[in-house]
Amino acid sequence: MEKQPRNPVWSRDELTLALDLYVKTGGNPTAKDDAALEALSSVLNKMHRLNGGSDSDTLRNRNGVYLKVMNFRSSDSTYLEQGKVGMQRGNRLEGVLWAEYDGRLADLATDADAIRQAVLGADEAVLAKLPPAEPYEGEEGGVIMRLHKRYERDPKLVKEKRKAAAAAGSLTCEVCGFDFEATYGKLGAGYIEVHHTKPVHTLKPGTKTKLADLATLCANCHRMAHRNRSLISLSTLREYLK
Ligand SMILES: [Zn+2]
Ligand SMILES: [Zn+2]
Repeated sequence: MEKQPRNPVWSRDELTLALDLYVKTGGNPTAKDDAALEALSSVLNKMHRLNGGSDSDTLRNRNGVYLKVMNFRSSDSTYLEQGKVGMQRGNRLEGVLWAEYDGRLADLATDADAIRQAVLGADEAVLAKLPPAEPYEGEEGGVIMRLHKRYERDPKLVKEKRKAAAAAGSLTCEVCGFDFEATYGKLGAGYIEVHHTKPVHTLKPGTKTKLADLATLCANCHRMAHRNRSLISLSTLREYLK
């Protein structure tokens, strides 16, 4: 018998959106929530394409999305207290997310909105012209950070920002002052990394990036700016510096 290709395991981003829908439908999406289930299915398929995967008829279709949303019942004490048994096929991450957002429903809604905005706002035609995403490093940051890193690696933007920074003085890190040329001599001349300071989900679709939204950072400070799931601002990074 031919093996059916298996759909990938649900990521943290995907489960965040599923949990958000579970909460919004009171743990019981019914026929009247069909539009919401369809919308979630389409966001998840776009997310897979943005993450470099391909979509298919079975990937996160309405039915799969419904089942996954219902899986949260196995973590839901309100539901379990009624003597009902939650579905058992959930993965461990669902329980982790449930515990993480327990009592923090406003944060769940905010995080889910950010993921949705980043995915819906992403222009696939524009992205197709940019260098491909870096090799997938676990799930740190999820789709928001992956998109962010792709946007800021736009060769044209990087070139323009370096040119403007050089014209304004020198190519130094805006957080720690590191100067590649001062340390590496000729090898480091003209080098600095370019960082986008605005989170992607706050950008309206089609917004042109302004040079003022970009910062020049050394490789270390740039890594640290992306260390958490949400961007760390330059001023906060400066406070961390010892
Ligand atoms: Zn630095
Ligand atoms: Zn960056």
